[in-house]
Amino acid sequence: MSQKHLPEKACGFESRFRHPSLVGKTVGTMREDEVVYPRETVELARHLSDLGILDRENAAICAVSIWAVRHWRRGDRRSEKACASRRSPANCPRCGGRALDRAAYAYLLGLYLGDGHITRSPRAHVLWLACADAWPGLLNLAKQTVSLVMPTSSVFCVSPRGVACTYVKSVSKHWPCLFPQHGPGRKHERTIELEPWQEEIVTAHPGDFARGLFHSDGCRLINRVRRPLKEGDRWYEYPRYLFVNKSADIHRLCGEALDRLGVAWRFSKPTTISVARREAVARLDEFVGPKY
Ligand SMILES: [Zn+2]
Repeated sequence: MSQKHLPEKACGFESRFRHPSLVGKTVGTMREDEVVYPRETVELARHLSDLGILDRENAAICAVSIWAVRHWRRGDRRSEKACASRRSPANCPRCGGRALDRAAYAYLLGLYLGDGHITRSPRAHVLWLACADAWPGLLNLAKQTVSLVMPTSSVFCVSPRGVACTYVKSVSKHWPCLFPQHGPGRKHERTIELEPWQEEIVTAHPGDFARGLFHSDGCRLINRVRRPLKEGDRWYEYPRYLFVNKSADIHRLCGEALDRLGVAWRFSKPTTISVARREAVARLDEFVGPKY
C-alpha cells in the first residue's frame, strides 16, 4: 500500500506508533514502527471501530496490522480524555489545586534544564525530553517521572530517524506553569532563574535535582591515569562525574545542589563541572550513579 508522511499531530497517535511486537521489523527500507499511514486509512479504521467492527476484521479491511487499529482506537480515547482534563485548571499544581510530587518534580526540572524544551501546539504546550537510546533505563525513568508530575496527560515517545535518541513527549496547557523558564531562544542565551517555589523544592530535594542534571547533561566515567615508575608504567583508574552545559546560570544551579549535598566540585573547563575527589564521587554515587 502507499505510504506517505503526515504532518505530526499534537497527540502523536496518528503519525507514529510503536508496539513491542512490531519494533525492529522492517517494511521495505522503513522499520514498521516508523510506518506512517495515509490519513484516510486512519479515519476509515476509526470509523469501522465506531461501528463496532472487531479489530481483526478492521485490520484486514484496511490492510494494516491489528496493533495499528488498536493503537488508533485506544489512542483516540486517551486523547479525548486528556483534552477534557486540560480544560480544567484543577489539574495544574500551580494555577489549580492538584498536589505535586516534589521529588519527581526536582528530578524532572534537572532533566528539563539539561535536555528539555517546550513547544506550542495548536491547543496546548508540548514538553520534549531528549533521551539517548544508549540508556533505556533512563528513558523509562523519564517517562515515569513525567507521568508522576503531570498524571492527567499521557506520555509518548518519538524516535527521529538517523538520530540515536528518543524524545519523551507530553502535552499539557500547564507545562509553562511548571517550567516558567520556558522562553524563546536557547537556554544559555537567556537568563535562567528559579522562582521561589522552585528554589524551595530543589533545596528540599537536592539529590533528585542533581540526578536530573547529571542524567541529562552529565556522565560518570572512568579516568585512566598513567604513572611512570622505575619498574614500568602503572595505570590507575578512578571514577569521576562531569556536567557539561553552556549556561552559566545552570552551572550555578548545579553547583548549589552539589554544595547542599556536600559534594566537592570545580570547573575543569569553562563549560564543565567536574567531581573527581574520591569522597565526593562516593557521595554523588548515593544520588546519581552510572547511567543505565
Ligand atoms: Zn497551570
